[in-house]
Amino acid sequence: MAEFTLAIASGKGGTGKTLISTNLGVLAAEEGLTVLVDCDAEAPNGHLFFPQGLRQTHPVQVPIAQVQASLCTACGLCRDACAFGAIRMLGKAQVFEELCHPCGVCVSVCPTGAIREIPQRIGEVEILRPAGREHLILVTSRLDTGQVKTPNVIQAARRTAGQFPARIVLLDAPPGVACAAVASLRGADAILLVTEPTVFGLHDLELSIQLGRSLDIPMAVLVNRDVPGDTSVEALCRSREVPIVARIPFNREVAETYARGGLIVEEFPAFRELLGPIPSLMRGLRAGKGIQA
Ligand code: SF4
Ligand code: SF4
Repeated sequence: MAEFTLAIASGKGGTGKTLISTNLGVLAAEEGLTVLVDCDAEAPNGHLFFPQGLRQTHPVQVPIAQVQASLCTACGLCRDACAFGAIRMLGKAQVFEELCHPCGVCVSVCPTGAIREIPQRIGEVEILRPAGREHLILVTSRLDTGQVKTPNVIQAARRTAGQFPARIVLLDAPPGVACAAVASLRGADAILLVTEPTVFGLHDLELSIQLGRSLDIPMAVLVNRDVPGDTSVEALCRSREVPIVARIPFNREVAETYARGGLIVEEFPAFRELLGPIPSLMRGLRAGKGIQA
């Protein structure tokens, strides 16, 4: 169990969430064991910044209900009990696997024992110990092609991360505010919302703030590609009472470094100073202390 779990999230893709997560991970690992979890199971890319290292991969399986037609009397009890509409009566009961959220209710209501749960692979979790970074572990969630149970793979990755006695766990959440984002953020101690001063960025920041509030997790905002003189993010944050913790100005060199898989805190000392204080500021936020914008 980590001392502190910080989620890095954004309402939309392309705001620089992985840029911030990977660089925060490198900085935090200088202070103690750090686990960075890539929760973007449908398109993980954190590993691209750590190409060398020791890798272990574990499959993620979930139990999926399966009906043995020879035992089914077509009573319909399982269909009526399934809260996810995953069972239809087509002569006998039939399970639609994509809709099945492995809850086991149908197994318990079936009077003939016709339903059993069969483990089915939906993805994998990779543990990477990057070469030359003694105190950093990267845990990657990866959904198999054609599968849809993204939250289950993310939860498996978070359970894996929880096995390490980390000083801090950083959760690089998938973009958006749907089930996968909820699975990534739930239970975090604080959320760092990465945004940009654009119309889409502001719209999705608003949604992310609503999600963070519904989960009752303290939040702060990092403005990426900040535009001098633009106060749109500041105005929204002030009205929603969410502090701004850092601003990263638009910088072509940063974009180029990121695009080739480089780490900006190792190539530009100014970014060490900019990002370094964020984990302790977010701990303070969790403890009820404010942050000066
Ligand atoms: S509860 Fe069992 S017997 Fe009844 S329809 Fe479902 S699978 Fe068939
Ligand atoms: S395990 Fe749950 S979700 Fe899946 S078919 Fe049975 S009742 Fe429905």
